[in-house]
Amino acid sequence: AAPAPIRLNAPALFASRFPARSHATHKGTYGSLAVVGGDTGMCGAPILAARAALHAGAGKVHVAFVGAGGPAYDPPHPELMLHALDDVPLDTMDALAIGCGMGGSVRAAATLRRALSLDVPKIIDADALNLLARDASLADEVAACGAAGDVCVLTPHPLEAARLIGSSAATVQKDRLAAARALAARFASVAVLKGAGTVIAAPDGRVAINPTGSAALATGGTGDVLGGIIGALLAQRLPPYEAALAGVYLHGLAADALTERGHGPAGLTAGELAPVVRELLNRLI
Ligand code: AMP
Ligand code: MG
Repeated sequence: AAPAPIRLNAPALFASRFPARSHATHKGTYGSLAVVGGDTGMCGAPILAARAALHAGAGKVHVAFVGAGGPAYDPPHPELMLHALDDVPLDTMDALAIGCGMGGSVRAAATLRRALSLDVPKIIDADALNLLARDASLADEVAACGAAGDVCVLTPHPLEAARLIGSSAATVQKDRLAAARALAARFASVAVLKGAGTVIAAPDGRVAINPTGSAALATGGTGDVLGGIIGALLAQRLPPYEAALAGVYLHGLAADALTERGHGPAGLTAGELAPVVRELLNRLI
């Protein structure tokens, strides 16, 4: 068969997949997400992701801290439910976002393995990607999820992508489409190869290039925010490819809107993205 055409990412590809906000719904309708990460001293990343998930419409958002010493609640967002990992029943969630600030401990690896054993939609980022790159048995479990119809979303930046496919960041950047397709095939997952012109590739061959966003996003925490948005969309039962398309598109468009308002390209902060993502999302649905 001819390969699927390369699409330009746009709302026409995903807008119809958002749940209708009809009157007779409740928070359960919009799904519960657990953000799993945050080793000791790295609590900011999962909190940024969780705040973004709230603003992207998830019904309930938990943070499960893998390390000790996480905060009891998030003062600006007491809506978030923060817990030690063992206190979160991951199997009751509608989606998991795993990896931000998670570190590379034995406990982190065991947590990733447990998450992969659950039939729950998953977005895998950051330290969890590095764990996959180091442990072929974990990588095989991601591929097995995809083969069983539980397709994960992987969100590597070019260096993380290079580690995952045994390449170099320079090689990945030389042919970003090929790298994203190789990731999607190896892991039977939706691969989101981040950076200017984010490429979204599905294991069935669909590929899109994202036109929104700019170097305003080249600042710490923006990747965590993207992970939280995609997690929220998975919790709202968007299929993985459409969740990735919508998340990447809205995240970039929020950066573009903030830049227009003078909050970028220099000095945009990752935490500013979430309320703007909310505005843009509400214009779409
Ligand atoms: P991370 O490297 O995990 O913090 O993620 C950074 C986020 O910012 C990703 O969503 C990237 O796609 C985005 N980003 C960084 N630099 C650029 C750029 N020059 N143009 C567009 N998006 C960018
Ligand atoms: Mg990152």
